[in-house]
Amino acid sequence: NKIIVLYKRPAGKPALGDFKTEIEDVPTADDGEVLLKTRYVSVDPYLRGRMNDEESYIPPFELNKPLQSGIIAEVVDSNNTLFKVGDFVLGNLDWKEYQVSNGKGLRTIPNDPAYLTAHLGILGMTGMTAYLGLTKIGAPKPGETIVVSGAAGAVGSVVGQVGKLLGCRVVGLAGSDEKVELLKSKFHFDEAINYKTTTDLSAAIKTACPAGVDVYFDNVGGPISDAVLNNINKHARIPLCGAISLYNAAEPVLGPYIQPVLVKKSALIQGFIIGDFAAHLPEATKQLTSWLMEGKLTYSETIYEGFDHITQAFLALFEGSNEGKMIVKI
Ligand code: NDP
Repeated sequence: NKIIVLYKRPAGKPALGDFKTEIEDVPTADDGEVLLKTRYVSVDPYLRGRMNDEESYIPPFELNKPLQSGIIAEVVDSNNTLFKVGDFVLGNLDWKEYQVSNGKGLRTIPNDPAYLTAHLGILGMTGMTAYLGLTKIGAPKPGETIVVSGAAGAVGSVVGQVGKLLGCRVVGLAGSDEKVELLKSKFHFDEAINYKTTTDLSAAIKTACPAGVDVYFDNVGGPISDAVLNNINKHARIPLCGAISLYNAAEPVLGPYIQPVLVKKSALIQGFIIGDFAAHLPEATKQLTSWLMEGKLTYSETIYEGFDHITQAFLALFEGSNEGKMIVKI
């Protein structure tokens, strides 16, 4: 039974050597427990923060203990009346091939092959983050312009589509021409910009947003965000969802350097974590599920295969290797 532990706290960008695979016996399920076989592992940028030994909204990972993330597992043995062999469950579980659980925090999900992995993405944590961050903080009105960074990722691709469904102009920023093409063709963004090849990003955003930016959904932080904030309208709203461009900074990052524009434009900038909106998760799930079933939303996934590739998939998030949700199939 393979398990992946945090071996060293990454200094700056994480590397394969920060993780170690160990072998232990496959455990057995005692009374009230289930034995789970890991099937799909979600890797997420926020896990990087948990690798630092610092206070946050969630405790740091401990050295030489297994990492954890959203996992879809199959029940292969059950001594718990709530779960039967063959059920698929979703939970925040250890990076182990097999593990036991007392069932706490596990949710049974339908074993519908068409939508199974969607519970890690558009119908899971990243989809909810996109929908609730956009609607509760961004509060876009029809006809307004939304810019989203990290647009071709799990959160960003949902933000853009929801923005279109709410009647807005949507502009996405992403790190390759393929992603720019995907945003326009598959996700129906009005415009998309490759931030890596654009020399004057602020000017390009101005061109793409002739009426200015009313909502900036920020997934990345840093200079990309400064370029967007240069173009905001009066009373712009800025849901601060993530700052992946800064997660590997070796030194504390100061800024943003754009405060004067936030003052001049009476802008609202608000950080959030999805847990802040726990009370709204049922309504978000209902809305995203019905849009998905009606064919009004779609999603992309990048699937790595094999337990041994979990850490590689995680590291690849910081290289922009994924389109949509990054998942590892075991
Ligand atoms: P993504 O699927 O968007 O994957 C990460 C993407 O980030 C990469 O594909 C890459 O795309 C981009 N990226 C990587 N490095 C950089 C960089 N240095 N500068 C700019 N872009 C970079 O991840 P998620 O959708 O899961 O998460 C997106 C953001 O939302 C993250 O910041 C994450 O932490 C945050 N988040 C916040 C939550 C909350 O509750 N607040 C919940 C879930 C996620 P590209 O090719 O375009 O560079």
